[in-house]
Amino acid sequence: MQRLDRLADVRAASRAWRSAGRTIGFVPTMGALHAGHAGLVEQARSECDVVVASIFVNPLQFGPNEDLARYPRDLEGDLRTLTAAGADALFTTTPAEMYPSGFQTHVVPGALAEPLCGASRPGHFRGVATVVAKLFHLVAPHQAYFGQKDFQQARLLQRMVVDLDFDLVLRILPTRRESDGLAMSSRNRYLAPSERTAAPALHRALQSVQAAFTAGERRSEALAAVGRAALATTPAFRLDYLEVRDDETLELVPTLGGGAVVAAAAFLGSTRLIDNLLLGSAERRLG
Ligand code: AMP
Repeated sequence: MQRLDRLADVRAASRAWRSAGRTIGFVPTMGALHAGHAGLVEQARSECDVVVASIFVNPLQFGPNEDLARYPRDLEGDLRTLTAAGADALFTTTPAEMYPSGFQTHVVPGALAEPLCGASRPGHFRGVATVVAKLFHLVAPHQAYFGQKDFQQARLLQRMVVDLDFDLVLRILPTRRESDGLAMSSRNRYLAPSERTAAPALHRALQSVQAAFTAGERRSEALAAVGRAALATTPAFRLDYLEVRDDETLELVPTLGGGAVVAAAAFLGSTRLIDNLLLGSAERRLG
């Protein structure tokens, strides 16, 4: 696998691939890779001529009291994962190269960034949109691959691609889970054994909402209440939010029509986990 360690390297490589007529698939990550990331790389491998992954722990998307300093890093393991999944190149860089002194221009997403994680993590999605816009310029991919696990992120980046005329297709792939239902996440490495045992309750709470939806409940507050009550039976969890919203606009819709998303964030100790499930016709509209 080719290593691209400077902005100039990735630009030059991308130009060469494009002028050779090769399509570029791009998987941006923050490293500490797991099978969820590998699945994105494998999908890119099956759809594009060249597959580029990036690893960059983006300081701009972390709040002052968040886990930037302790975010897991495992370059050796990541190289093995990426090679096995079929990546052709890995782009890595440093905060100093991405944000040199004098940096002051940001991408500010709109209403899609306001609720859910946007309300709990002010500035987070501005940081995400800014780094992803920069990465899209540097890598110039034909297709970019994101996970449904970070559903709000994927939706607002789809919007950014349209609004800012990025010439690429943004694909959202389903969340990969452990056998007990826990969504794979780099942050799962933080969990103490007792927390890891409790963790699948988050997915189960979302499934209880899905079951109530399937049984015919369409009032979004009643659905959310089902999920909150289910999560409350695992006292180790401290709820940040559990909400049912329109899966495209992320607006609160009192009575749901065709489809929706149930999204939640909750803490186990100091580890914040997120997860979501699509409801009804939303399941067929991922992209
Ligand atoms: P991260 O390294 O956490 O920033 O994630 C990089 C990409 O991998 C994002 O598009 C995530 O949505 C995606 N991703 C993370 N976890 C999973 C998962 N369990 N299944 C599928 N995609 C995932």
